[in-house]
Amino acid sequence: MQSMASSLPRYDQAAAIVADYARKLCDTPHQVEQAELAYASGRVLAQAIVADMDQPPFARSTRDGFACRAAEISRHESLPIAGSTHAGESPAGPLPENAVWEIMTGAAVPDGADSVVMLEHVEREASRIRLLHGRAISSGDNIVAQGAQSRRGDELLPPGTVLGAAQIALAAACGYPEIEIFARPRVAILTTGDELVRVDETPGPGQIRNSNAPMLESLVTAAGGDVAMMLRAADTPEALDTALAVAMDSDMLIISGGVSAGKYDLVEPALQRLGAIFHFTGVQIQPGKPLVFGEVPRKEKGTALPFFGLPGNPISSAVTFLLFASQVLRALGGARETGPRFGMARLSQATDRKSKPGLTRFLPARCTLSDDGFPDVATVPWHGSGDLPAFAKSNCCVVIPDDVGVLETGSMVRILFL
Ligand code: AMP
Ligand code: MG
Repeated sequence: MQSMASSLPRYDQAAAIVADYARKLCDTPHQVEQAELAYASGRVLAQAIVADMDQPPFARSTRDGFACRAAEISRHESLPIAGSTHAGESPAGPLPENAVWEIMTGAAVPDGADSVVMLEHVEREASRIRLLHGRAISSGDNIVAQGAQSRRGDELLPPGTVLGAAQIALAAACGYPEIEIFARPRVAILTTGDELVRVDETPGPGQIRNSNAPMLESLVTAAGGDVAMMLRAADTPEALDTALAVAMDSDMLIISGGVSAGKYDLVEPALQRLGAIFHFTGVQIQPGKPLVFGEVPRKEKGTALPFFGLPGNPISSAVTFLLFASQVLRALGGARETGPRFGMARLSQATDRKSKPGLTRFLPARCTLSDDGFPDVATVPWHGSGDLPAFAKSNCCVVIPDDVGVLETGSMVRILFL
């Protein structure tokens, strides 16, 4: 085990260890379930979604107007309306020479037409139209050709895709009322600490409410996990051994607290008693430096139980979960893209100079759209990683890289979305 801060992995090194572990998990078999499409939001696709026909299935108009030949109508001469098609009608036509065809958005363009002129761009007189002066049209305008989006038999979504609204709509368009999805990994959450009382209790002197339990439940659910066990342990070896024995029956274990260097930080020794392999026992990040990542081999199952020991301070727990644990959880759930969500924003206030070389910091911050339409970000004043009111005002963390002392006002910075 590493103990000296300088021997701990830097953020990018620890991220690479976790990403590598997640990649290997993706290649292991996962349990599959059947679900109705409407109930599959947020779940991970276990099958491929394949186009059952060309999309669009016919050349489709994207406007209300008149299907025409661009060369003919561009002469700005009056042309007769030869027919009409609205959405839902079978493809009609063909379009006679020197004529136009009335057409609605979503309708099939008649054979022979090469473009659709918008209703607003013509003048109409009885059953004839003329392209207005100053308006031009080219071949292909306002038509999506048959098969332009996809061809019958194309694989449109691979297994491992997380299903959002767009993916559900696509599966519906391809005729999948039910789909195969991966079962959610069963997660055990173990909160440790003698000072903790339940949320519905009033803390006595020196006690605090166990806010990490529901917070981690929320984070686990959002990352595609099923919270199968909520366990509590006091800071004694016996209590930890008992809780860990129960947790061995889950797919992943998230522990909060008890991983710092204090006298009552007994989590690592308890994991060691179970024969745990540690991938790292600390990372050069702030908050969250004491983070522990490893796995407990299970000979009887032939698998290992991955675990993260998160530092107990709420912001440390949340940030380390989002940076590392969520990635392993998503991979266990069969997702292909597992990494934390980062973005870029413009810093509206310089950061302080406290950074140490090698230490990557994640400062709670709020990102908003500025008047010029650009995402601006400012750190939220906080009193350390236990400051839940400050954290609850934040919607991201500003990432201070390990080789930067101070970030200047106006500089583009990386943000971690919360
Ligand atoms: P630990 O990581 O156990 O040393 O805890 C660090 C700090 O986080 C201490 O101030 C704890 O009281 C606090 N803490 C630990 N566990 C929780 C929890 N489940 N909910 C809220 N705060 C906690
Ligand atoms: Mg503790």
